[in-house]
Amino acid sequence: MKIYIKGIDDERFHRPLRLIGNLFFEETELCFTEGDSTLEAEFLFEETNGSIWIKGYLRTEDGKEFTATREKQLQAHLEGKDRLRQVKNTLSYVYLTILQDYTGMIQKWGILTGVRPTKLYHKKRQEGMSELEIHRMFKEEYLLSDEKVQLMKQIVDRQLQVIPDLDSLSNEVSIYVGIPFCPTKCAYCTFPAYAINGRQGSVTSFLGGLHYEMKEIGHWLKEKGIKITTVYYGGGTPTSISAEEMDMLYEEMVESFPDVENIREITVEAGRPDTITKEKLDVLNKWKIDRISINPQSYIQETLKAIGRHHTVEETIEKFHLARSMGMNNVNMDLIIGLPGEGVEEFDYSLSESAKLMPESLTVHTLSFKRASEMTKNKHKYKVASREEISTMMDHAVEWTNEHGYAPYYLYRQKNILGNLENVGYALKGQDSIYNIMIMEEQQTIIGIGCGAASKFVDPVTRKIIHFANPKDPKSYNDGFEHYTEEKIKILEELFKR
Ligand code: SF4
Repeated sequence: MKIYIKGIDDERFHRPLRLIGNLFFEETELCFTEGDSTLEAEFLFEETNGSIWIKGYLRTEDGKEFTATREKQLQAHLEGKDRLRQVKNTLSYVYLTILQDYTGMIQKWGILTGVRPTKLYHKKRQEGMSELEIHRMFKEEYLLSDEKVQLMKQIVDRQLQVIPDLDSLSNEVSIYVGIPFCPTKCAYCTFPAYAINGRQGSVTSFLGGLHYEMKEIGHWLKEKGIKITTVYYGGGTPTSISAEEMDMLYEEMVESFPDVENIREITVEAGRPDTITKEKLDVLNKWKIDRISINPQSYIQETLKAIGRHHTVEETIEKFHLARSMGMNNVNMDLIIGLPGEGVEEFDYSLSESAKLMPESLTVHTLSFKRASEMTKNKHKYKVASREEISTMMDHAVEWTNEHGYAPYYLYRQKNILGNLENVGYALKGQDSIYNIMIMEEQQTIIGIGCGAASKFVDPVTRKIIHFANPKDPKSYNDGFEHYTEEKIKILEELFKR
């Protein structure tokens, strides 16, 4: 969809216009000179006595016109970026309103296009706004539906029950360990994941680097007396390495990290059922791993084949029972809404299969077309459900989880997510993942070690975030892990010097 934008010269406003446009049309193209566009959007601005007034017009090729106006009192104490944000929000508000009128489509998330809506909820709560004020703000300023505000409130309340000291955990850290290998690569995947077969040399050198990072980071944390809240092994599939390699790695963790007995949660993603064996489960038990993930994604065999997951539905179920029989009592399972070829019927089937297993948590993702995935590059080959169907599937997930005793405890959104919906983690009472909450709400530093591991350093006082990423491919990691460790320690020194 090509949209001609009139009256906006300031380039800083182009991004919000593009993001809002993408909520309605696939791949919005904005142009700023008259040409062969399908729609024309014109904006008039006026700033008087500390308030901003914006009027927007949307004109169609067949001569229809839609208009909306908004006047907003700018908060006097805000300046620079914060002030600009208010103007951007006002513009987004006007633009969203005329696009909703034109398409008849209502965006339940309003003008919120960010990944972490609940983080904004927490921020307002920490600033002292009441529940009612937050609710009103989301509805009136951001045009959110009651349903989404309610969902956020439910999640925030739940998070505070699970982690009552959430607001004061910025003096601790969590650790993410990235292991970049998988049995095969899935079609929708953009994670650092390399097919493990035939790569033993590279795996061995990678693990050498990872042990080094664990030692050094652990040593620094012990020296400074900084506690670890949670540890999360992701990737890739951390169980694609051998049982012996896992054993040595967890032994390193226990030796190197401070006060491991008091870490609140250690998770290992055993995502691909084809990597799970009795030996590996023994190792997980030996080192008291609290939580694992076994991810079906779908219980339809044809779908698994289409997305390049070389395991069977039976294998998922069988490995789940094996883990249960060996005492694993906190298992997460992921489902994805909108996988190629799947509609409401197939998703309902996956839910009914989940009911037979009742994992402690169920994370329901909505398929997103990430730029780098095989699926996006060959989008024409994959048939995906319509917006309406996606939305129905999401409703079914909400109903199903509610009926089966699960409650939502974290959510995040992505760009290009089908139907502009969200990914939601549901858990049975007391089984919520603390790490998932910490990573989503950005209330403390997460140190990423290993391949493709992204660190987020959250300043304990200002809450400003510094990002740092380890390289995604094992070769670059192996060549530079000492340097990356040193860089992270430098940032940590600076952050925790107070
Ligand atoms: S199992 Fe996960 S990390 Fe591995 S290729 Fe598939 S989606 Fe990517």
